[in-house]
Amino acid sequence: MFHSPSRYPQRMVRFTVLASGSKGNATIVTGGRTRILIDAGLSCRELFRRMKLAEEDPETLNAILITHEHQDHINGLAVTARKLGIPVYFTEATHRAWMRLLAPRRQMTYAQWLEQIRKQAAERQAEADCATPEGEPDDPELDSESDLETKQPIGPQMPPPICLTPAEAESETADQGTEAESIPTRKQDPTWLPAVEYFRAGEPFQVGDLAVSPFTIPHDAADPVGFRLTAEGIHMAVATDLGYIPPNVKAQLKALHLLLLESNHDLEMLRDGPYPWQVKQRVLSRVGHLSNDATAEYLSGDYDGQAVYVILGHLSESNNLPDIARVTAERALLEHPALLANRLLLAEQHTPLEAINF
Ligand SMILES: [Zn+2]
Ligand SMILES: [Zn+2]
Repeated sequence: MFHSPSRYPQRMVRFTVLASGSKGNATIVTGGRTRILIDAGLSCRELFRRMKLAEEDPETLNAILITHEHQDHINGLAVTARKLGIPVYFTEATHRAWMRLLAPRRQMTYAQWLEQIRKQAAERQAEADCATPEGEPDDPELDSESDLETKQPIGPQMPPPICLTPAEAESETADQGTEAESIPTRKQDPTWLPAVEYFRAGEPFQVGDLAVSPFTIPHDAADPVGFRLTAEGIHMAVATDLGYIPPNVKAQLKALHLLLLESNHDLEMLRDGPYPWQVKQRVLSRVGHLSNDATAEYLSGDYDGQAVYVILGHLSESNNLPDIARVTAERALLEHPALLANRLLLAEQHTPLEAINF
């Protein structure tokens, strides 16, 4: 599953923000021989274009990790995962929410969806059996449920597509041949992915050389998370899309070398800005987004001042200005009693940030 890392030295730790903001989020984290994409909120084509600009090779990515199912975090997910043949890490609730987003007309539960996938697999198997010279003549009655049930054996029950590795997926597609025209293939299913891995907030896991600690964030999505990532003794964290900073998040943001933290809006600009009242309330709510002031309050208070790099992210283009966000955060960092040499950077929506190497 893991690609050859020849382009990247073994002891490398690197953090590259490709995009940050309500029109798309994506960050590449390299730790040792492992490279992951956190969120795929731009089209696959645009992600690849930005990777090229940032001198990141898409072919060497090992996995995609998803924070939550909002469009600006998953826009290019399916295409990118398929193109690279790499697994996607979700929480189960986020995966389900994402599938519902892509197939809203199905109106079915997760269990029903799994059942449908199993049924389709059985039908494919039955058709394949019919197609062999030794099989039954091409009788339309064979399509009925009862015939499928009595026709034994129909081969092993296929797992749902979420369990397939890319190699299995390829052989699956190749096996389908011309029958693909009449029955939806796994690649025609908008929710099909080469492989899915589930994680839970609060339960650390490993992706190759990268230790990942997912933590719950207060945001209006199914099961949103931030990530703390460690490799080669370097600690990094991604915390955007959160209405406030609760104690569990503060605990994860200690002793970091790099912090990507949301600084979404200026309160006055939001209040006077173009958003409808309900959207303003949503952004301001406890499950919305961090304002410049909320971020500054954290940076001058509970933040331990240890990160070498503090990156402000998910800046609103309608309700914020980079200069306001920067000045507000700079002021807060200067007030911090234990300040080391924090370098403040601003992640951008339309251009990748220069890669940060450790
Ligand atoms: Zn977002
Ligand atoms: Zn969001």
